[in-house]
Amino acid sequence: MIRSEARSVAKRKRVDHRKTQFAHASFKEQGYPYRLSFYDVPPTQEISLEDFEIWAIDRLRILAEIEACSFRAKSPQETAAHLEPLLKKYLPLSSNSAAPGGIVDERLKLERKKDHYSHYILRLAFSGTEDLRRRFSRVETMLFKLRFQADDSRERRAFVDSLNLNWELVQEDEKRELAEQLLSSTPGVRRIEDENWFKVDWTRVPELVEHRSVFVRKGKAYVPMREQTSMVLTEFTNRLDKGLELTSRALPRLDEDDRLTPILNHLSKNFATPDAGFNESESSLPGAPINAANIDNLSQHFPLCMKHLHNTLRKNNHLKHFGRLQYTLFLKGINLSLEDCLLFWRQSFKLITDDQFNKEYRYNVRHVYGDVGGDANRRGRGYPPYSCQKILSEHPPGTGEAHGCPYRHFSVDNLTSMLQATGVNDRDVLRGVKEDVEKQRFHIACNRVFDWAHKTEIKKVKDEGIWGPAELETIFHPNTYFKRSYLLKNLSNANANLPRQDVKMEE
Ligand code: SF4
Repeated sequence: MIRSEARSVAKRKRVDHRKTQFAHASFKEQGYPYRLSFYDVPPTQEISLEDFEIWAIDRLRILAEIEACSFRAKSPQETAAHLEPLLKKYLPLSSNSAAPGGIVDERLKLERKKDHYSHYILRLAFSGTEDLRRRFSRVETMLFKLRFQADDSRERRAFVDSLNLNWELVQEDEKRELAEQLLSSTPGVRRIEDENWFKVDWTRVPELVEHRSVFVRKGKAYVPMREQTSMVLTEFTNRLDKGLELTSRALPRLDEDDRLTPILNHLSKNFATPDAGFNESESSLPGAPINAANIDNLSQHFPLCMKHLHNTLRKNNHLKHFGRLQYTLFLKGINLSLEDCLLFWRQSFKLITDDQFNKEYRYNVRHVYGDVGGDANRRGRGYPPYSCQKILSEHPPGTGEAHGCPYRHFSVDNLTSMLQATGVNDRDVLRGVKEDVEKQRFHIACNRVFDWAHKTEIKKVKDEGIWGPAELETIFHPNTYFKRSYLLKNLSNANANLPRQDVKMEE
């Protein structure tokens, strides 16, 4: 009797354990004394669902840009310069010295809170698979490195001290005693006074020991101070990797939360190609001849997806449903009026009568523009043009269909032929595109082609300071591709507003 009761209590306890593991996360407001963080402590304060989403998307934009910089082989200096304005805009993180009296005030706390919470939200979103965990850990480490290197040196030292990494600074008398060994294991340092060393268990720096880059004595490795950054980064990555493993085990318990799960799923989908929203007010190109008669000419600025639709339309005098939809939305996005769009389609469908056009196609074009049908919200506006993410991930084209993204949906041979037909004949670019496509970095391949096709103009706007890095951030939207290409090739209008891409959740 007693034994069976004990068993049932133990059973209840086991069941409760799973349910209550996270129930004890007691509220704890963080003081954020340092700008940098190893994100060892999960956040416990409540935030609104709106902040949850917006903060995560802002961080995601930064991580995607960091990843794009590395895929596009930008140097660390170029990456830092490229990221600086974006970080200021989306994920600012000021030093204590930026606050009056060096006191962590409310502004700094809010910046650090956003950084902290957004990191953990994306941890949840990206811990589901080995591939996502690896990519997240890599870009988070790159972000940490950027910030670590840019940090105020005094604050950086205080932060490193706070980590309790068990690094023992080698004192002067020991330095002198081991001078010969320390100098011989530290190339480039001639005098013992020019460098500092710290002692750690040799097992914590196996790579340095393996490469004989450190002096080892009594189980301790003597690591020169200049290796500090790489050691801090290794520690950061190790802790993050362990944290991601733990989070992935906790994930199944989140499945029941129908508020968070869709957001997290969408965020993880966004990591492949961030979803760029389209801002109608910024689609205009003042003075540009956007009309039905000029589409052939403007198509030189189209990305490959839209060029393919345009060429197919010219060749077949027809496009199937999804092709018409993708292309009409794009044309609407470049600011082609409804009247001109109808005229464009009517003239392009050469093999049908007016009557057939009016019956079968006119209504759909008007619907896309919001001229007819749709719900009240859409009336007058219609539907937004498709982003790369939508084109890449939805409705793959079937036989005889021309929609989709050639980088994603063409064979490598067909893609190469098409690129060559459009004038991309640089071997390095074609090789780079092939590699991108093999690694499923479709939008990176598209950006690579864009950069090559506009290299002279990009150099000019950079050199002359006409556009900053924010104007040249990675393209995630066909309409951004068009507008940027048009402006670069018509630089006298280059002061016109650029179509900024808003990374956002799908409507
Ligand atoms: Fe079009 Fe985007 Fe594909 Fe480029 S990456 S071809 S813009 S869908």
